[in-house]
Amino acid sequence: MAVFVNELSFSVENTRQHSAESSRIIGKLYQQFIHMFDYSITPEILANKTILITGAGAGIGRQAALTYAELGATVILLGKTVAKLEAVYDEILGNGHPEPAIVPLDLKGATKQNYIDLTSTIVSQFGKLDGALLNASMLGELTPFTQVSEQIWHDVMNVNVNAQFLLAQALIPSLLKAESASLVFTSSGVGNKGKAYWGAYSVSKFATEGMMQVIADEYENSSLRVNAINPGATSTNMRASAYPAENKDSIAAPEDIMPLYVYLMSDDSKAVNAQRLNAQ
Ligand code: NAP
Repeated sequence: MAVFVNELSFSVENTRQHSAESSRIIGKLYQQFIHMFDYSITPEILANKTILITGAGAGIGRQAALTYAELGATVILLGKTVAKLEAVYDEILGNGHPEPAIVPLDLKGATKQNYIDLTSTIVSQFGKLDGALLNASMLGELTPFTQVSEQIWHDVMNVNVNAQFLLAQALIPSLLKAESASLVFTSSGVGNKGKAYWGAYSVSKFATEGMMQVIADEYENSSLRVNAINPGATSTNMRASAYPAENKDSIAAPEDIMPLYVYLMSDDSKAVNAQRLNAQ
């Protein structure tokens, strides 16, 4: 698998300055309008890092897991479907990258204790946690607001908001022990601008961005940085459910949007905090 080229770019919007340390990078990025810049990925840039990825069995999460492993990270693959996680595990081992771990967990029914146990297991097995990509989400149904079913609303909020809340709460103490840690949430184009028929999903992504901002502000002067990615239209099962008639080749593939995912997990983004970043 060769996912990378040396010169890669992604866009940033609505960045703001956070600290004197961050002013150098943010100074470059701060714009009222979308601003493109280049990011060069060096091999092994994630060597010796331990990174948790939720929704690692498919789509963007799967690609992030493969990519982080290719760059030297030990990845912990969390997801709902064991067979999918095993396939990613096999692919990583087959490529000769650090041996990953698998955590089968359905975020819909998981409890606070599940997340606490998960964190203890990570720390006892790997000694530390340097990063977490909270990527797993469910779309629910695209339907007029008055027709959103109560069950779907609760399921979407459970997976997309409550699970992120409990998982982040459990992970933060361990992330704070790492020399430099990154917590990355996953938003959407409908996460800061509501859109007709996107119902619970859109509302859940607003909540995700709010959660990111609250945590980022609380840890502004710590070794933990907290940001959110808006992946943009990317060819996955979720995208196909939302846009069944779309030509997959007309939009980005998961590997195309990896530069931002790598940047936020690498020490190059140490000074970036509280940002909503566009992957394309
Ligand atoms: P995807 O292909 O549907 O993959 C979602 C992943 O999340 C799957 O691995 C799935 O596991 C896992 N997952 C879903 N529900 C879960 C649960 N209850 N417990 C544990 N794992 C669960 O979606 P994607 O397109 O890669 O989306 C990744 C993230 O990007 C999401 O947060 C999405 O909202 C966001 N996003 C995507 C796009 C896009 O165009 N693709 C655009 C904007 C934002 P299983 O496969 O086992 O079900």
